[in-house]
Amino acid sequence: MINLIIFGPPGSGKGTQSDNIVSKYGFHHISTGDIFRNEIKNKTSLGMEVKGIIDDGKLVPDELVLKVLESTLDKCTNHHGIVFDGFPRTRFQAEELKKILNARSTEISIVLSLEVDEEELAHRLMNRNVEMDRTDDTTEIVQKRLKVYHDTTEPLIRYYKGRGIYKAIQGIGTVEEIFGKITYEIDKVI
Ligand code: ADP
Repeated sequence: MINLIIFGPPGSGKGTQSDNIVSKYGFHHISTGDIFRNEIKNKTSLGMEVKGIIDDGKLVPDELVLKVLESTLDKCTNHHGIVFDGFPRTRFQAEELKKILNARSTEISIVLSLEVDEEELAHRLMNRNVEMDRTDDTTEIVQKRLKVYHDTTEPLIRYYKGRGIYKAIQGIGTVEEIFGKITYEIDKVI
């Protein structure tokens, strides 16, 4: 059972590379962002609760994220592996994930961190706004999300480096080139 975290700032390509990983290895993809967007689309009470927060570029409160994560894991019947995308985003989420996995007699196998410079990120996110109609990809909100990433999520790099499971991946190049580096790392742990 492989538990892989795909880590990186907004716009670093986590979603795209998660899809590639899922196609090649048959892992289950858990994207907390996708889960929330789906809830918003279906106008559920959870969706209504998180819409304002997401559109404002802030983080959904940990308790809510963890509730969603646990119920998603409970429904997951894939025993090959899981790709966690956009989660964990806070130190608390990381610590809880460790406990949740340990309780299921498993653990994080590897953290693949996509490194992309700020200028390129802002550029990609603005394009995505036009192409995918993401209401949180506007100039002001993009800057806010990048700041949230730096302040709250980026410190997790040290946390995972300290555990010896952190792998930096240069996130600039073609999707295929980057995926090649990703498969190289995954193949070492499976
Ligand atoms: P991106 O990586 O481009 O920011 P995501 O799809 O991962 O996109 O997340 C979109 C939004 O959903 C985030 O800005 C945040 O508001 C919310 N969100 C997603 N995952 C989490 C999480 N693990 N903790 C808190 N908020 C989250």
